[in-house]
Amino acid sequence: MNAQKKAVFLDRDGVINVERGDYISRFEDFEILPHVGQGLQLLRDAGFIFIVITNQGGIAKGLYDVSALTKMHNFMESELLKLGVPFQDVYYCPHHPDYGQCLCRKPNSLLVEKALSKHRISPENSIFIGDKPRDIACGEAVGVKGILIEPNENWIPKIEAYL
Ligand SMILES: [Mg+2]
Ligand SMILES: [Zn+2]
Repeated sequence: MNAQKKAVFLDRDGVINVERGDYISRFEDFEILPHVGQGLQLLRDAGFIFIVITNQGGIAKGLYDVSALTKMHNFMESELLKLGVPFQDVYYCPHHPDYGQCLCRKPNSLLVEKALSKHRISPENSIFIGDKPRDIACGEAVGVKGILIEPNENWIPKIEAYL
């Protein structure tokens, strides 16, 4: 029952798809960043599995609904699968602190903890790529090393040490 897998945890907006400075509420605004396919292929070849952890407080705010979010995530997963890169899981927090507290919104680590347990991932061999300090905090709370990037930055140079 040893946790042997290593994972790359990924924030969504600004890491996988284009961060536009506001909630991505329309499918038309969901655009995968150009370096992501190659970056994930490199990490896949180095033995990592992939988990997405994303705050989607726009759901609590009523800016979009779960079916709209699901459409974006189905597109994201199918586009990357075409490149040979499967996501093991896509976790999202639909809450927003203006409407109540939850345990799953980053920087809380609940969603990372769920993934670690479900997929038997070894946190010390895993990394979290995020474009906000809260992404880094939620991983490091459970022993996953954070890699902080700028929104929409090509993060391939920053993961070369793990290839
Ligand atoms: Mg982000
Ligand atoms: Zn939540």
